[in-house]
Amino acid sequence: MTTAYNTGTPDLVDFNWDALGFQLIPTDFMYLMRCSSDGVFTKGELVPYGPIELNPAAAVLNYGQGLLEGLRAHRKEDGSILLFRPHENALRMRIGADRLCMPAPSVEQFVEAVKLTVLANKRWVPPTGKGSLYIRPQLIGSGAILGVAPAPQYTFIVFVCPVGHYFKDGLSPISLLTEEEYHRAAPGGTGDIKTIGNYASVVSAQRRAKEKGHSDVLYLDSVHNKFVEEVSSCNIFMVKDNVISTPLLTGTILPGITRKSVIGIAQSLGFQSAILQ
Ligand SMILES: *Cc1c(COP(=O)(O)O)cnc(C)c1O
Repeated sequence: MTTAYNTGTPDLVDFNWDALGFQLIPTDFMYLMRCSSDGVFTKGELVPYGPIELNPAAAVLNYGQGLLEGLRAHRKEDGSILLFRPHENALRMRIGADRLCMPAPSVEQFVEAVKLTVLANKRWVPPTGKGSLYIRPQLIGSGAILGVAPAPQYTFIVFVCPVGHYFKDGLSPISLLTEEEYHRAAPGGTGDIKTIGNYASVVSAQRRAKEKGHSDVLYLDSVHNKFVEEVSSCNIFMVKDNVISTPLLTGTILPGITRKSVIGIAQSLGFQSAILQ
């Protein structure tokens, strides 16, 4: 069950769309759905975008029991709005939730929440070619607990923000610094789920790389410190002649939906698929 807002807002907000980067711009509504100790998400609602109240003992604040997702809505030339493979994000959140002992919204609930949030903020979906509406679903252990254990309550949130390109140089090639000291993930860890705990630890390596003029860090595997894994927040592909390769998903790499799509497109275009996984 969901409260649908009739926002009555104009189709586009008066905004300088040419200056869009990847900065937080507050939008109109966010979606909130809570689940109590019975582990069932039932009633979600759109509420005005803004801060939420959390107990200082919330599991997410103390023990990092939280997941995030990221996907985009695009405006087509005829004005309609497209979501890019939202079911995939819903499934990935469910896999991550399982790993962190959290209940998760069903795929249908997730996709419905994303749709409602985008529609309630549709004036923030940039015009075609100017960017997209970034959608950030979150699942957090919002219940208070003292010892390390699953939280007694969970909150699912979706907020949105208009964005341009993630890297400031847009679609031009980016320079990556190979990181040999820090690792993003280890075998048996949580590198293959989008848990919030994976991101604070990449910031220092990222900052070092940026100080040296690079856009981001290229991580190596933590066992041999030798095999390429991925970047702080995206997967990597290497192109040589008619072969496109990408590291196998062996548990320390985030299974990107872009990665999956690139593999599918590359195969359909006739690139060698033997080493693609
Ligand atoms: C989100 C993310 C990706 C890319 O995932 P997509 O589904 O393609 O957006 C890749 N690596 C990391 C570490 C990520 O957090």
